[in-house]
Amino acid sequence: MSAAIYAARAGLSPLIIAPSMGGQLQGKGVDVENYPALSNVTGPTVIALMRHQAAGFGATFEDDWVLSIDASKRPFTIHTNVTGPIETHSIIVATGAESNWLGIPGEYELRGGGVSSCATCDGFLYAGKEVLVVGGGDTAMEDALVLARTSRKVTLVHRRDSFRASKVMADRVIQHPIIDILWNTTLEEILGESQSSPTANANVAEEIEEDLDVDLDSPTPAVATEMEDSEKVVRGAVLRNVNTGETTELKVDAVFVAIGHTPATSFLEGIVEFDPSHKGYVKTMGTSTHTSVPGIFAAGDVADSVYRQAITSAGSGAAAALDAERWLSEEGLGNEAAEMEAELLREMMDDSAAAGAGEGSYNAYEEAGGRMQGVKESIASEL
Ligand code: NAP
Repeated sequence: MSAAIYAARAGLSPLIIAPSMGGQLQGKGVDVENYPALSNVTGPTVIALMRHQAAGFGATFEDDWVLSIDASKRPFTIHTNVTGPIETHSIIVATGAESNWLGIPGEYELRGGGVSSCATCDGFLYAGKEVLVVGGGDTAMEDALVLARTSRKVTLVHRRDSFRASKVMADRVIQHPIIDILWNTTLEEILGESQSSPTANANVAEEIEEDLDVDLDSPTPAVATEMEDSEKVVRGAVLRNVNTGETTELKVDAVFVAIGHTPATSFLEGIVEFDPSHKGYVKTMGTSTHTSVPGIFAAGDVADSVYRQAITSAGSGAAAALDAERWLSEEGLGNEAAEMEAELLREMMDDSAAAGAGEGSYNAYEEAGGRMQGVKESIASEL
């Protein structure tokens, strides 16, 4: 969003291609406490304000996924999931990072049935229940604290004897009365059980009623048996103490996996160079946002294995737009649409000036101070 704001204000007509579900900040239901000048606002509110600001300067949005980029010729072509191919002179990659998973038995099968990587999205479903969080970073701390507001008990499982999270977050978790910490412990398996849900039963009942032409107000034993085959939900977790090797079973209703993220950069494989020491992170040149491909820039978590904060991402987004603007100028590549509009306006004003030549005639161009940049900006904003 910050790249879009800067690019739009520079008259570059940025198009933001992103799914509306958003990224990490959009999924953050707790307040963003560490973004200067913001207080008492959640992640989605911050994103909504940024979107509004970018749109106000003429940025446009496409609710879509990028599948691939053809960087073999200019302009670049972006292939997306829904929209047709999009041509552009320059690309700023700011696709962020995706949640990592443990790859243990039960994790994949029980997603949607109590296994989640987003406590702020799914935590409320387990209000009054017992939940487990895995991880020792800031995300795990945040998830544990979010869940502790509504759940009966939160167990935090970490594979080592100290957290990597910031001290302030770790201290809040350690001191929280309903958060239990299991140090030196790994999650080995997530256990599930079948639970008949009203929706599943209603669907099964309808199908059976149609097939057998029966009334399920009083199901027969055969029908009742079929109705038991329903959604699986989490019932517990198998934990292992890494020091003793001992395994134990813990009863929990949900498991939140918070073990870090992987940059969403797979669509750039074979196109740009990656950081050799940090898998999946795009390599940028020096302190700039330039990637190995001229015209492609990277901002935020995709190129930052160190800081990964909202504020640092926003800063690098602004830097990427400035780098892109400078590169486009050096290449002599402009914004054809805005230039055509400005040219059209200039011709119209010249015509009206010629028609009404003489004293007292109104010249909108002069009125606007003759600044085409300003005119372009107001046109973009009108659009
Ligand atoms: P992270 O800092 O990389 O932490 C990941 C945690 O998961 C680590 O404690 C790690 O254990 C553990 N882990 C990784 N793989 C595991 C596995 N296979 N099994 C068990 N545990 C595993 O990731 P993050 O917490 O998502 O944070 C990412 C970045 O975002 C950080 O820079 C963080 O500061 C930032 N962040 C900031 C905020 C905020 O400022 N409010 C909020 C959220 C995140 P080890 O410690 O043993 O490696």
